[in-house]
Amino acid sequence: MDMQLPKNVKKLKDNERFSFACNPSVECFTDCCRELELALTPYDVMRLKNKLQMTSEEFLKRYVVIEAEMGQFPRFYLGMVDDGKASCPFVSAAGCKVYDSRPGPCRAYPVGRAASIAEDGSNIAFHVLLSEPHCQGSGGSTQFTAKEWMSDQELDLYNEFNDDFMGLLQHPKIREGFSLSKEQIQMFTLSLYNLDEFRSYVSSDKFSLKYSLNKNELQRINSDDSALLRYAVRWLKKELFGSGS
Ligand code: SF4
Ligand code: SF4
Repeated sequence: MDMQLPKNVKKLKDNERFSFACNPSVECFTDCCRELELALTPYDVMRLKNKLQMTSEEFLKRYVVIEAEMGQFPRFYLGMVDDGKASCPFVSAAGCKVYDSRPGPCRAYPVGRAASIAEDGSNIAFHVLLSEPHCQGSGGSTQFTAKEWMSDQELDLYNEFNDDFMGLLQHPKIREGFSLSKEQIQMFTLSLYNLDEFRSYVSSDKFSLKYSLNKNELQRINSDDSALLRYAVRWLKKELFGSGS
């Protein structure tokens, strides 16, 4: 059965095309970078902190608001600026200052990707198109399918990392009511959102006494944040649920 969607959200068929064009000449330019709730995935944070040449710890302290509830995975949001317009800290008159590393939702707009894991463990994903009155981008001359849009906005890698992350958030044990301890919540934040600190931990004697990592893998995750993040998801799944897959 199809889920009920809000009026301004339309489910897109695989081959359905929509028109969209956003550029500095539209009257609403950067309006969508204000008064928004922007949830960040671990991959978003990794890209942004590297773009800004900050450590993950510095990035979290300066830009991120963490919402935590007992027993649940915490949620990470980009903190907006208190300028009367709740602007994104990275917006300027000329556009996005972190454009080539902007978060997944900024890339995807006006398309949304709903992804979840079915009972049998398979991935379910579909795309929706948002029509919001303030956005004047629709009706542009270029047409896209959702897949073409994702590719145009270089979202394939974001989706790959985010699907991996979703496998953790929607693990069968979570659906069965698994509640996280305080220590497990800290492990989640450290390994997925504070990658530089996690790398220090993985390189420590304390870690190597408890977990075995071969030399090649250690070298890879020491020099490559993407490899470290992939490892972090596997490691955390195993720590929390006893399974790394
Ligand atoms: S056209 Fe839409 S996406 Fe582009 S700046 Fe305006 S509100 Fe944002
Ligand atoms: S990160 Fe860039 S695109 Fe996203 S809301 Fe901020 S300024 Fe806009």
